[in-house]
Amino acid sequence: MIFAKSAKDLDKMRAVGELIAEVREALRAMVEPGISTLDLNNAADKMIRDAGAIPTFIGYHGFPYAICASVNHEIVHGFSKPDPLKEGDIISLDMAATYQGFVGDTATTVPVGKISDELELLIRVTDECLALGIEASRVNNRIGDIGWAVQQHAEKFGYGIVRDYTGHGIGRKMHEAPQIPNYGRPGTKEKIRAGYCFAIEPMLNIGTEETRTLSDKWTVVTADGKPSAHAEHTLAVTPDGPEILTLTKEQKSRQKAASAT
Ligand code: MG
Repeated sequence: MIFAKSAKDLDKMRAVGELIAEVREALRAMVEPGISTLDLNNAADKMIRDAGAIPTFIGYHGFPYAICASVNHEIVHGFSKPDPLKEGDIISLDMAATYQGFVGDTATTVPVGKISDELELLIRVTDECLALGIEASRVNNRIGDIGWAVQQHAEKFGYGIVRDYTGHGIGRKMHEAPQIPNYGRPGTKEKIRAGYCFAIEPMLNIGTEETRTLSDKWTVVTADGKPSAHAEHTLAVTPDGPEILTLTKEQKSRQKAASAT
């Protein structure tokens, strides 16, 4: 069953969304050649706890880290390691916090130093797919409309759309109903109602959509070893349209200023 959030719940979703967005942007600013994913993980863990929240990923089905750090051909659920990141890598940083009983979940793919044009495009299109999925998250639309919005854009570029992992409802738990695939047919699946909160997270591969999981039982990689990008926001469906919850204070004021002009 899909839980619609009350006005009070939504205030808490906003608070945790902003909290985890601040962590995401702080990590983005730290990414440079030489830093390790373990450094980034430890910084995120500290920031989340210092804000009075809990890193939701730690202990989730036994996951050992505060963030999922997935480099290059790693798609999602990568382990943090002490090895330095190299110029030209791309890294997906995925993180979640629990605060006042509610969860915010967000991810972004960040270039390490200067990256190739091919990888720049992959990241840009992944971000665009996320924006299109968010835009489709409207009252009386259906879950299939979100998947279609993502799929039709990704396919223009010939990217493999990961099917083994999906977006999801979110609230008191990180993973709630419904599942939100990054592909679909318009007008199909569950109807979207006000108060629903979703984590939308396209995962796009330069090559095949096929995945495999490493022997650590977590890290998901592309079957052909080609790079993958991932972006995620938590949003609330409001009568006026989708409200992105995982924006920093600064991003929200910029958004407000842009919509006023
Ligand atoms: Mg998620």
